[in-house]
Amino acid sequence: MTDRSPRDCCYSQRVPFSALGLVSPLCRAVTELGYLEPTPVQQQLVPAVLAGGDVWASARTGSGKTAAYLLPLLQQLTLRNSSNHHRALRALVLVPTRELATQIGEQATRYAKFLSPRPVHRVLVGGGSLDVQRLALRGGADLIVATPGRLLDFVDRAELSLATVDHFVLDEADRILSLGFADELARVLERLPTRRQNVMLSATFGPKVQALAERWLVDARGIDVDGGAMPDTTAIVQRAIEVDARARTRLLRALIRGEQWDRVLVFVATRQAADELARDLDKADIAALALHGDQGPTTRKSALESFVAGDIRVLVATDLAARGIDVTGLAAVVNYDLPRSTTDYVHRVGRTGRAGERGVAVTFVTADNAAHFGVIEKHHRMTLVRERLAGFAPTDVARPVLDAHGGKKGARPSKKDKLRAAAARTSASSKKASDR
Ligand code: AMP
Repeated sequence: MTDRSPRDCCYSQRVPFSALGLVSPLCRAVTELGYLEPTPVQQQLVPAVLAGGDVWASARTGSGKTAAYLLPLLQQLTLRNSSNHHRALRALVLVPTRELATQIGEQATRYAKFLSPRPVHRVLVGGGSLDVQRLALRGGADLIVATPGRLLDFVDRAELSLATVDHFVLDEADRILSLGFADELARVLERLPTRRQNVMLSATFGPKVQALAERWLVDARGIDVDGGAMPDTTAIVQRAIEVDARARTRLLRALIRGEQWDRVLVFVATRQAADELARDLDKADIAALALHGDQGPTTRKSALESFVAGDIRVLVATDLAARGIDVTGLAAVVNYDLPRSTTDYVHRVGRTGRAGERGVAVTFVTADNAAHFGVIEKHHRMTLVRERLAGFAPTDVARPVLDAHGGKKGARPSKKDKLRAAAARTSASSKKASDR
Protein backbone atom coordinates (compact mmCIF):
# COMPACT_ATOMS: atom_id res chain seq x y z
CA MET A 1 0.00 0.00 0.00
CA THR A 2 2.34 2.69 -1.14
CA ASP A 3 0.00 5.15 -2.78
CA ARG A 4 -1.30 6.92 0.30
CA SER A 5 -4.44 8.98 -0.11
CA PRO A 6 -4.79 12.64 0.97
CA ARG A 7 -7.10 11.36 3.67
CA ASP A 8 -3.95 10.05 5.28
CA CYS A 9 -3.98 13.05 7.54
CA CYS A 10 -5.80 10.52 9.72
CA TYR A 11 -2.59 8.49 9.82
CA SER A 12 -0.39 11.50 10.60
CA GLN A 13 0.33 10.44 14.17
CA ARG A 14 2.26 7.48 12.79
CA VAL A 15 1.09 5.05 15.43
CA PRO A 16 2.99 1.76 15.13
CA PHE A 17 0.99 -1.48 15.45
CA SER A 18 2.95 -2.31 18.60
CA ALA A 19 1.59 0.84 20.29
CA LEU A 20 -1.90 -0.67 20.08
CA GLY A 21 -0.85 -3.40 22.52
CA LEU A 22 -0.31 -6.11 19.92
CA VAL A 23 2.37 -8.73 20.52
CA SER A 24 5.39 -8.79 18.24
CA PRO A 25 4.47 -11.92 16.20
CA LEU A 26 1.29 -10.14 15.08
CA CYS A 27 3.15 -6.89 14.36
CA ARG A 28 5.66 -8.87 12.33
CA ALA A 29 2.90 -10.55 10.33
CA VAL A 30 1.20 -7.28 9.38
CA THR A 31 4.53 -5.65 8.54
CA GLU A 32 5.29 -8.57 6.27
CA LEU A 33 1.92 -8.00 4.59
CA GLY A 34 2.98 -4.44 3.83
CA TYR A 35 0.76 -2.69 6.34
CA LEU A 36 2.73 0.44 7.17
CA GLU A 37 0.52 1.61 10.01
CA PRO A 38 -2.88 0.90 11.51
CA THR A 39 -5.90 2.39 9.78
CA PRO A 40 -8.11 4.72 11.89
CA VAL A 41 -10.57 1.94 12.73
CA GLN A 42 -7.70 -0.34 13.76
CA GLN A 43 -6.23 2.38 15.97
CA GLN A 44 -9.44 2.45 17.96
CA LEU A 45 -10.84 -1.03 17.72
CA VAL A 46 -7.69 -3.04 18.48
CA PRO A 47 -7.17 -1.60 22.01
CA ALA A 48 -10.92 -1.70 22.68
CA VAL A 49 -11.17 -5.41 21.81
CA LEU A 50 -7.99 -6.19 23.76
CA ALA A 51 -9.55 -4.46 26.79
CA GLY A 52 -12.26 -7.11 26.76
CA GLY A 53 -15.54 -5.17 26.94
CA ASP A 54 -18.36 -5.00 24.41
CA VAL A 55 -17.73 -2.78 21.39
CA TRP A 56 -19.66 -1.68 18.35
CA ALA A 57 -17.97 -0.02 15.42
CA SER A 58 -19.31 1.64 12.36
CA ALA A 59 -16.81 0.39 9.82
CA ARG A 60 -17.16 0.04 6.12
CA THR A 61 -15.47 -2.61 3.99
CA GLY A 62 -12.06 -1.39 2.96
CA SER A 63 -11.39 0.39 6.24
CA GLY A 64 -9.25 -2.47 7.58
CA LYS A 65 -12.08 -3.62 9.86
CA THR A 66 -11.26 -7.32 9.60
CA ALA A 67 -7.76 -6.91 10.98
CA ALA A 68 -9.16 -4.50 13.56
CA TYR A 69 -10.97 -7.35 15.32
CA LEU A 70 -8.99 -10.40 14.13
CA LEU A 71 -5.62 -9.23 15.44
CA PRO A 72 -6.75 -8.66 19.05
CA LEU A 73 -8.88 -11.81 18.90
CA LEU A 74 -5.93 -13.96 17.81
CA GLN A 75 -3.80 -12.38 20.50
CA GLN A 76 -6.31 -13.25 23.21
CA LEU A 77 -6.58 -16.79 21.89
CA THR A 78 -2.83 -17.39 21.80
CA LEU A 79 -2.27 -15.96 25.28
CA ARG A 80 -5.07 -18.11 26.66
CA ASN A 81 -3.70 -21.21 24.96
CA SER A 82 -0.24 -20.86 26.49
CA SER A 83 -1.75 -21.50 29.91
CA ASN A 84 -4.44 -23.92 28.81
CA HIS A 85 -3.72 -26.71 26.39
CA HIS A 86 -7.28 -27.95 26.18
CA ARG A 87 -8.68 -26.73 22.86
CA ALA A 88 -12.24 -25.52 23.27
CA LEU A 89 -13.98 -23.09 20.97
CA ARG A 90 -13.23 -19.60 22.30
CA ALA A 91 -14.20 -17.22 19.55
CA LEU A 92 -16.94 -17.04 16.96
CA VAL A 93 -17.10 -14.63 14.01
CA LEU A 94 -20.48 -14.60 12.29
CA VAL A 95 -20.75 -13.07 8.81
CA PRO A 96 -23.46 -12.85 6.15
CA THR A 97 -21.79 -14.56 3.18
CA ARG A 98 -19.54 -17.47 2.46
CA GLU A 99 -17.15 -15.34 0.39
CA LEU A 100 -16.61 -13.01 3.33
CA ALA A 101 -16.14 -15.93 5.73
CA THR A 102 -13.56 -17.50 3.43
CA GLN A 103 -11.65 -14.24 3.14
CA ILE A 104 -11.64 -13.76 6.90
CA GLY A 105 -10.32 -17.29 7.31
CA GLU A 106 -7.52 -16.52 4.87
CA GLN A 107 -6.70 -13.32 6.70
CA ALA A 108 -6.60 -15.20 10.03
CA THR A 109 -4.03 -17.58 8.53
CA ARG A 110 -1.85 -14.68 7.42
CA TYR A 111 -2.06 -12.78 10.70
CA ALA A 112 -1.44 -15.85 12.89
CA LYS A 113 1.62 -16.93 10.90
CA PHE A 114 4.21 -16.20 13.63
CA LEU A 115 2.06 -16.85 16.70
CA SER A 116 3.03 -19.65 19.03
CA PRO A 117 0.97 -21.45 20.04
CA ARG A 118 -0.92 -20.71 16.86
CA PRO A 119 -4.69 -20.55 17.33
CA VAL A 120 -6.58 -23.00 15.14
CA HIS A 121 -9.42 -21.57 13.10
CA ARG A 122 -12.07 -23.17 10.92
CA VAL A 123 -14.47 -21.75 8.36
CA LEU A 124 -18.01 -23.14 8.28
CA VAL A 125 -20.02 -22.00 5.29
CA GLY A 126 -22.99 -23.16 3.28
CA GLY A 127 -22.17 -24.59 -0.14
CA GLY A 128 -19.02 -26.32 1.12
CA SER A 129 -19.12 -30.01 1.96
CA LEU A 130 -20.60 -30.75 5.38
CA ASP A 131 -18.38 -33.81 5.72
CA VAL A 132 -15.17 -31.95 4.96
CA GLN A 133 -16.08 -29.25 7.47
CA ARG A 134 -17.10 -31.89 10.02
CA LEU A 135 -13.75 -33.60 9.61
CA ALA A 136 -11.92 -30.30 10.02
CA LEU A 137 -13.79 -29.68 13.26
CA ARG A 138 -12.66 -32.98 14.73
CA GLY A 139 -9.40 -31.72 16.16
CA GLY A 140 -11.17 -28.78 17.76
CA ALA A 141 -10.84 -25.09 16.92
CA ASP A 142 -10.11 -21.94 18.89
CA LEU A 143 -11.87 -19.72 16.39
CA ILE A 144 -14.73 -20.36 14.01
CA VAL A 145 -15.72 -18.06 11.17
CA ALA A 146 -19.17 -18.97 9.93
CA THR A 147 -22.32 -18.04 8.10
CA PRO A 148 -25.44 -18.43 10.28
CA GLY A 149 -27.15 -21.33 8.48
CA ARG A 150 -24.16 -23.64 8.34
CA LEU A 151 -23.15 -22.87 11.91
CA LEU A 152 -26.62 -23.86 13.08
CA ASP A 153 -26.45 -27.06 11.01
CA PHE A 154 -23.60 -28.17 13.25
CA VAL A 155 -25.06 -26.78 16.46
CA ASP A 156 -28.50 -28.36 15.88
CA ARG A 157 -26.92 -31.75 15.28
CA ALA A 158 -25.01 -31.34 18.55
CA GLU A 159 -21.76 -31.60 16.62
CA LEU A 160 -20.60 -28.22 17.87
CA SER A 161 -21.16 -26.46 21.16
CA LEU A 162 -21.00 -22.71 21.53
CA ALA A 163 -21.04 -22.94 25.33
CA THR A 164 -17.35 -22.07 25.72
CA VAL A 165 -17.31 -19.02 23.44
CA ASP A 166 -15.74 -15.99 25.17
CA HIS A 167 -15.63 -13.65 22.19
CA PHE A 168 -18.45 -13.17 19.72
CA VAL A 169 -18.01 -10.98 16.64
CA LEU A 170 -20.91 -10.05 14.39
CA ASP A 171 -19.47 -8.61 11.20
CA GLU A 172 -21.61 -6.70 8.68
CA ALA A 173 -24.58 -6.73 11.04
CA ASP A 174 -26.65 -4.57 8.67
CA ARG A 175 -26.18 -7.11 5.93
CA ILE A 176 -27.00 -10.04 8.20
CA LEU A 177 -30.35 -8.37 8.92
CA SER A 178 -31.06 -7.27 5.37
CA LEU A 179 -30.43 -10.81 4.12
CA GLY A 180 -33.08 -12.08 6.51
CA PHE A 181 -30.82 -13.83 9.02
CA ALA A 182 -32.46 -12.25 12.09
CA ASP A 183 -33.97 -15.55 13.29
CA GLU A 184 -30.77 -17.50 12.77
CA LEU A 185 -28.85 -14.80 14.61
CA ALA A 186 -31.29 -14.97 17.53
CA ARG A 187 -30.83 -18.74 17.67
CA VAL A 188 -27.04 -18.41 17.69
CA LEU A 189 -27.22 -15.81 20.47
CA GLU A 190 -29.36 -18.19 22.55
CA ARG A 191 -26.65 -20.83 22.36
CA LEU A 192 -23.85 -18.52 23.48
CA PRO A 193 -22.92 -18.24 27.14
CA THR A 194 -24.18 -15.11 28.89
CA ARG A 195 -20.73 -13.98 29.95
CA ARG A 196 -18.82 -13.14 26.80
CA GLN A 197 -17.32 -10.26 24.89
CA ASN A 198 -19.43 -8.95 22.00
CA VAL A 199 -18.03 -7.04 19.06
CA MET A 200 -20.44 -5.77 16.45
CA LEU A 201 -19.49 -4.16 13.15
CA SER A 202 -21.77 -2.59 10.63
CA ALA A 203 -21.33 -0.24 7.69
CA THR A 204 -24.58 1.46 8.62
CA PHE A 205 -26.46 1.87 11.87
CA GLY A 206 -30.10 2.20 10.88
CA PRO A 207 -32.91 1.66 13.41
CA LYS A 208 -32.89 -2.16 13.06
CA VAL A 209 -29.15 -2.47 13.63
CA GLN A 210 -29.40 -0.06 16.56
CA ALA A 211 -32.22 -2.09 18.10
CA LEU A 212 -30.13 -5.24 17.70
CA ALA A 213 -27.12 -3.57 19.33
CA GLU A 214 -29.25 -2.37 22.22
CA ARG A 215 -30.63 -5.86 22.78
CA TRP A 216 -27.41 -7.71 23.29
CA LEU A 217 -24.48 -5.37 23.82
CA VAL A 218 -23.66 -4.53 27.43
CA ASP A 219 -22.12 -1.13 28.32
CA ALA A 220 -20.68 -1.11 24.85
CA ARG A 221 -18.07 1.30 23.67
CA GLY A 222 -18.98 2.86 20.33
CA ILE A 223 -16.44 3.60 17.63
CA ASP A 224 -17.50 5.72 14.71
CA VAL A 225 -14.31 6.55 12.90
CA ASP A 226 -15.58 8.07 9.69
CA GLY A 227 -18.70 9.59 11.18
CA GLY A 228 -20.97 7.56 8.94
CA ALA A 229 -21.06 4.98 6.28
CA MET A 230 -19.86 6.89 3.24
CA PRO A 231 -16.67 5.56 1.73
CA ASP A 232 -13.52 7.59 1.93
CA THR A 233 -14.32 9.94 -0.92
CA THR A 234 -10.80 11.25 -1.16
CA ALA A 235 -9.57 7.78 -2.07
CA ILE A 236 -12.54 7.06 -4.32
CA VAL A 237 -13.46 9.33 -7.19
CA GLN A 238 -17.22 9.09 -7.65
CA ARG A 239 -18.55 9.94 -11.10
CA ALA A 240 -22.08 10.15 -12.48
CA ILE A 241 -22.40 9.85 -16.25
CA GLU A 242 -25.68 10.62 -18.00
CA VAL A 243 -26.48 8.09 -20.69
CA ASP A 244 -29.47 6.50 -22.40
CA ALA A 245 -30.30 3.11 -20.93
CA ARG A 246 -29.81 1.37 -24.27
CA ALA A 247 -26.34 2.90 -24.71
CA ARG A 248 -24.94 1.71 -21.39
CA THR A 249 -23.16 -1.39 -22.70
CA ARG A 250 -21.48 0.65 -25.42
CA LEU A 251 -20.46 3.27 -22.87
CA LEU A 252 -19.10 0.60 -20.55
CA ARG A 253 -16.98 -0.85 -23.33
CA ALA A 254 -15.68 2.62 -24.23
CA LEU A 255 -14.81 3.39 -20.61
CA ILE A 256 -13.05 0.09 -19.97
CA ARG A 257 -10.89 0.63 -23.04
CA GLY A 258 -10.50 4.42 -22.82
CA GLU A 259 -9.73 4.57 -19.10
CA GLN A 260 -7.60 1.43 -19.36
CA TRP A 261 -9.19 -0.13 -16.31
CA ASP A 262 -7.50 -3.45 -15.85
CA ARG A 263 -10.08 -4.75 -13.39
CA VAL A 264 -13.68 -3.61 -13.14
CA LEU A 265 -16.56 -4.75 -10.98
CA VAL A 266 -19.86 -3.96 -12.68
CA PHE A 267 -23.13 -4.05 -10.75
CA VAL A 268 -26.42 -4.97 -12.36
CA ALA A 269 -29.89 -5.44 -10.91
CA THR A 270 -30.68 -9.01 -11.90
CA ARG A 271 -29.04 -12.37 -12.36
CA GLN A 272 -30.18 -12.48 -15.97
CA ALA A 273 -28.69 -9.05 -16.65
CA ALA A 274 -25.39 -10.23 -15.15
CA ASP A 275 -25.24 -13.22 -17.51
CA GLU A 276 -26.25 -11.17 -20.54
CA LEU A 277 -23.85 -8.32 -19.94
CA ALA A 278 -20.92 -10.63 -19.23
CA ARG A 279 -21.69 -12.44 -22.49
CA ASP A 280 -21.90 -9.19 -24.47
CA LEU A 281 -18.59 -7.92 -23.09
CA ASP A 282 -16.93 -11.22 -23.79
CA LYS A 283 -18.17 -11.07 -27.39
CA ALA A 284 -16.56 -7.64 -27.67
CA ASP A 285 -13.23 -9.17 -26.58
CA ILE A 286 -13.39 -7.86 -23.04
CA ALA A 287 -12.93 -10.94 -20.86
CA ALA A 288 -15.84 -11.00 -18.43
CA LEU A 289 -17.76 -13.37 -16.17
CA ALA A 290 -20.97 -13.10 -14.20
CA LEU A 291 -21.32 -13.62 -10.44
CA HIS A 292 -24.78 -14.15 -9.02
CA GLY A 293 -26.85 -16.23 -6.66
CA ASP A 294 -28.20 -18.62 -9.30
CA GLN A 295 -24.76 -20.08 -9.76
CA GLY A 296 -23.48 -23.01 -7.77
CA PRO A 297 -20.61 -22.49 -5.34
CA THR A 298 -18.06 -23.92 -7.79
CA THR A 299 -19.01 -21.51 -10.57
CA ARG A 300 -19.00 -18.57 -8.16
CA LYS A 301 -15.68 -19.56 -6.71
CA SER A 302 -14.06 -19.98 -10.11
CA ALA A 303 -15.46 -16.64 -11.37
CA LEU A 304 -14.07 -14.91 -8.30
CA GLU A 305 -10.72 -16.64 -8.63
CA SER A 306 -10.42 -15.74 -12.32
CA PHE A 307 -11.12 -12.13 -11.40
CA VAL A 308 -8.63 -12.07 -8.53
CA ALA A 309 -6.00 -13.75 -10.69
CA GLY A 310 -6.55 -11.20 -13.47
CA ASP A 311 -7.66 -13.86 -15.99
CA ILE A 312 -10.77 -11.82 -16.67
CA ARG A 313 -11.04 -8.06 -16.75
CA VAL A 314 -14.66 -7.60 -15.77
CA LEU A 315 -16.84 -9.23 -13.15
CA VAL A 316 -20.54 -8.50 -13.61
CA ALA A 317 -22.28 -9.03 -10.29
CA THR A 318 -25.51 -8.61 -8.40
CA ASP A 319 -25.38 -6.96 -4.97
CA LEU A 320 -25.81 -10.16 -3.08
CA ALA A 321 -23.08 -12.05 -4.88
CA ALA A 322 -20.57 -9.23 -4.61
CA ARG A 323 -20.98 -8.80 -0.90
CA GLY A 324 -17.67 -9.02 0.88
CA ILE A 325 -15.52 -9.43 -2.21
CA ASP A 326 -12.04 -8.36 -1.28
CA VAL A 327 -10.00 -7.75 -4.38
CA THR A 328 -6.98 -5.56 -4.00
CA GLY A 329 -6.11 -3.28 -6.86
CA LEU A 330 -9.68 -2.91 -8.05
CA ALA A 331 -9.48 0.07 -10.40
CA ALA A 332 -13.15 0.73 -10.85
CA VAL A 333 -16.67 -0.07 -9.82
CA VAL A 334 -19.51 0.66 -12.25
CA ASN A 335 -23.15 0.99 -11.29
CA TYR A 336 -24.62 -0.16 -14.61
CA ASP A 337 -27.95 -0.45 -12.80
CA LEU A 338 -28.57 1.57 -9.67
CA PRO A 339 -28.56 -0.20 -6.33
CA ARG A 340 -31.96 -0.59 -4.70
CA SER A 341 -30.91 0.99 -1.43
CA THR A 342 -28.63 3.77 -0.29
CA THR A 343 -26.81 1.19 1.83
CA ASP A 344 -26.07 -0.95 -1.20
CA TYR A 345 -24.59 2.12 -2.89
CA VAL A 346 -22.09 2.38 -0.04
CA HIS A 347 -21.29 -1.31 -0.17
CA ARG A 348 -20.74 -1.17 -3.92
CA VAL A 349 -18.59 1.95 -3.94
CA GLY A 350 -16.57 0.57 -1.01
CA ARG A 351 -15.28 -2.25 -3.25
CA THR A 352 -12.75 0.13 -4.78
CA GLY A 353 -10.34 2.57 -3.16
CA ARG A 354 -9.50 0.07 -0.45
CA ALA A 355 -7.01 0.76 2.34
CA GLY A 356 -4.73 3.36 0.84
CA GLU A 357 -5.43 2.63 -2.83
CA ARG A 358 -7.26 4.89 -5.25
CA GLY A 359 -10.33 3.89 -7.15
CA VAL A 360 -13.16 5.22 -9.23
CA ALA A 361 -16.87 4.50 -8.84
CA VAL A 362 -18.96 5.34 -11.89
CA THR A 363 -22.75 5.49 -11.86
CA PHE A 364 -24.73 5.42 -15.10
CA VAL A 365 -27.56 7.93 -14.68
CA THR A 366 -30.43 7.35 -17.09
CA ALA A 367 -33.62 9.35 -17.58
CA ASP A 368 -35.52 6.77 -15.56
CA ASN A 369 -33.18 6.33 -12.63
CA ALA A 370 -32.11 9.98 -12.24
CA ALA A 371 -34.68 10.65 -9.51
CA HIS A 372 -33.66 7.55 -7.58
CA PHE A 373 -30.00 8.51 -7.83
CA GLY A 374 -30.95 11.95 -6.51
CA VAL A 375 -32.36 10.21 -3.41
CA ILE A 376 -29.10 8.32 -2.90
CA GLU A 377 -27.10 11.52 -3.23
CA LYS A 378 -29.37 13.35 -0.82
CA HIS A 379 -29.08 10.57 1.72
CA HIS A 380 -25.30 10.79 1.60
CA ARG A 381 -25.32 14.59 1.44
CA MET A 382 -23.41 14.73 -1.82
CA THR A 383 -24.06 16.10 -5.28
CA LEU A 384 -22.07 14.65 -8.12
CA VAL A 385 -21.53 16.62 -11.30
CA ARG A 386 -23.44 14.99 -14.17
CA GLU A 387 -21.02 14.20 -16.95
CA ARG A 388 -21.93 13.75 -20.61
CA LEU A 389 -19.42 12.02 -22.81
CA ALA A 390 -18.97 12.66 -26.53
CA GLY A 391 -20.98 10.15 -28.51
CA PHE A 392 -23.18 9.28 -25.53
CA ALA A 393 -25.28 12.41 -25.02
CA PRO A 394 -28.64 11.18 -23.72
CA THR A 395 -31.82 11.72 -25.69
CA ASP A 396 -34.32 9.82 -23.51
CA VAL A 397 -36.76 11.69 -21.32
CA ALA A 398 -38.04 10.34 -18.05
CA ARG A 399 -41.22 8.35 -18.33
CA PRO A 400 -43.96 9.62 -16.03
CA VAL A 401 -44.68 7.53 -12.94
CA LEU A 402 -47.79 5.65 -13.99
CA ASP A 403 -50.53 4.27 -11.84
CA ALA A 404 -52.41 1.04 -12.43
CA HIS A 405 -54.61 2.67 -15.05
CA GLY A 406 -51.65 3.96 -17.01
CA GLY A 407 -52.09 7.59 -15.90
CA LYS A 408 -49.89 9.94 -13.91
CA LYS A 409 -50.16 9.25 -10.20
CA GLY A 410 -52.98 11.18 -8.58
CA ALA A 411 -54.55 12.19 -11.91
CA ARG A 412 -57.44 10.60 -13.76
CA PRO A 413 -56.09 8.84 -16.82
CA SER A 414 -56.82 10.83 -19.94
CA LYS A 415 -56.85 9.30 -23.42
CA LYS A 416 -53.51 11.03 -24.04
CA ASP A 417 -52.05 9.54 -20.84
CA LYS A 418 -53.10 6.07 -21.88
CA LEU A 419 -51.52 6.47 -25.31
CA ARG A 420 -48.35 7.81 -23.75
CA ALA A 421 -48.23 4.91 -21.27
CA ALA A 422 -48.63 2.39 -24.06
CA ALA A 423 -45.86 4.08 -26.06
CA ALA A 424 -43.60 4.13 -23.01
CA ARG A 425 -44.19 0.43 -22.40
CA THR A 426 -43.37 -0.40 -26.02
CA SER A 427 -40.21 1.69 -25.96
CA ALA A 428 -39.18 0.13 -22.64
CA SER A 429 -39.47 -3.40 -23.96
CA SER A 430 -37.68 -2.60 -27.20
CA LYS A 431 -35.03 -0.84 -25.14
CA LYS A 432 -34.54 -3.99 -23.11
CA ALA A 433 -34.19 -6.06 -26.23
CA SER A 434 -31.62 -3.82 -27.86
CA ASP A 435 -29.79 -2.99 -24.68
CA ARG A 436 -27.70 -5.93 -23.74
P1 AMP B 1 -11.19 -4.83 5.20
O1 AMP B 1 -11.74 -3.48 5.50
O2 AMP B 1 -10.99 -5.64 6.40
O3 AMP B 1 -12.02 -5.54 4.15
O4 AMP B 1 -9.71 -4.64 4.58
C1 AMP B 1 -9.49 -4.14 3.31
C2 AMP B 1 -8.11 -4.42 2.79
O5 AMP B 1 -7.15 -3.63 3.49
C3 AMP B 1 -7.63 -5.86 2.96
O6 AMP B 1 -7.08 -6.26 1.72
C4 AMP B 1 -6.56 -5.81 4.01
O7 AMP B 1 -5.55 -6.75 3.78
C5 AMP B 1 -6.02 -4.39 3.87
N1 AMP B 1 -5.52 -3.78 5.13
C6 AMP B 1 -6.02 -3.94 6.37
N2 AMP B 1 -5.33 -3.19 7.26
C7 AMP B 1 -4.40 -2.52 6.56
C8 AMP B 1 -3.38 -1.57 6.92
N3 AMP B 1 -3.21 -1.17 8.17
N4 AMP B 1 -2.59 -1.10 5.94
C9 AMP B 1 -2.76 -1.51 4.66
N5 AMP B 1 -3.70 -2.39 4.24
C10 AMP B 1 -4.50 -2.90 5.18
